[in-house]
Amino acid sequence: MNESVTDLNMESDIDIDKARADTPTCRNLVHFNNAGSSLMPTPVFDSVIRHLQLEQEVGGYEAHAQVMEDIDAFYKEFGSLLNASADEIAFIENATRAWDMAFYSLPLQPGDRILTHESEYVSNYLALLQQAERRKLRIDLVPSDEHGQIDLVELQNRITDRTRVIALTHIPTQGGLVNPVEAVGEIAKREGLIYLLDACQSAGQIQLDVKKIQCDLLSGTGRKFLRGPRGTGFLYVRKQFLEQLDPPFVDLHSATWTHDDGFEFQPNATRFENWESFYAGRIGLMQAVRYANQLGLASIEKRVCALGSQLRSTLDSINGVSTLDQGERRCGIVTFNKAGVSVADMKEKLSQHNMNVSVSSFNSARLDFARRNLTDITRASVHYFNSLDEINRFAERVDEI
Ligand SMILES: *Cc1c(COP(=O)(O)O)cnc(C)c1O
Repeated sequence: MNESVTDLNMESDIDIDKARADTPTCRNLVHFNNAGSSLMPTPVFDSVIRHLQLEQEVGGYEAHAQVMEDIDAFYKEFGSLLNASADEIAFIENATRAWDMAFYSLPLQPGDRILTHESEYVSNYLALLQQAERRKLRIDLVPSDEHGQIDLVELQNRITDRTRVIALTHIPTQGGLVNPVEAVGEIAKREGLIYLLDACQSAGQIQLDVKKIQCDLLSGTGRKFLRGPRGTGFLYVRKQFLEQLDPPFVDLHSATWTHDDGFEFQPNATRFENWESFYAGRIGLMQAVRYANQLGLASIEKRVCALGSQLRSTLDSINGVSTLDQGERRCGIVTFNKAGVSVADMKEKLSQHNMNVSVSSFNSARLDFARRNLTDITRASVHYFNSLDEINRFAERVDEI
């Protein structure tokens, strides 16, 4: 189906036929779970398999030695993706550990205060709770504005002389809103606060520029909108900020044993990595970022957001269905419920028709859901390789269920 004929907003710089050809399973699967785990493009998948084969043929260390160029490219491709430099990037096995490595490194004293928003990712919030108790820190929750985003006025109001950190999630996992991260960066800069951004749902979906956002630390995962393999993630650490951090773990890769009673950390963000890691995955993630960079994040963002808003309005026109996304600015994550149908049933019935969605449940978003009187929601998340035809077929099914 030629989409540009159907809807002018759907015109894209991306060659959609090629993108779909590189994603073979989308011929018989409507994959609207890109916020959970997207589909690897063929070049990404092939690079992972190729490296595993090489390891089997020549040995793991020997395979590693043969792909040093790809390992270097990992840092460069992430540098381009984020407008950072290569030495500000670390490979970490997932976004949670990346965020943890950053958070547990922060120079905080008892009585210090951390500002966060009620849409903060569940695992981050658990770490905040754990550290607040252990280290006598205080969490100050910034409420949402009328759009459901972090309220910038309330954020400013809550800053005290003990406030040290703003920890924010760019795009919450449980909804389509995009938090105003650049405006938050302005405040963090002006007030001299550490700015830790969870970009797990934004990396690979929308444009990310750490210079514009002015964050000190940014974490993300490989398998979601970046379309990399599972078990991969990354951390960005602003160069000038590196020396203020004290990594919670150290090993022979992140540091050098320079004298009998001392060591030195790597002079770059690899001080947050560890020695043993999933090399095939790292190469796959490099290829995934290269693939995204080649398509261009501006083009990806435009297409994903257009499909997201199309899906939202199509679902909203169905009897009994309400979409639940907040935010002045929205993305490719679409959340909805249907009256009289449980989210478990919705997911199961869609799956019987080869349509993938996921569910966000209360315990993954307690503060956000309690305020909005929600218990759980169905999440359909689109990527650029999805199509209008898929949206229409999906909506027909939701209507029938
Ligand atoms: C998925 C997600 C995470 C966790 O990512 P992992 O790679 O599973 O650790 C963190 N933050 C947000 C906003 C997420 O959606």
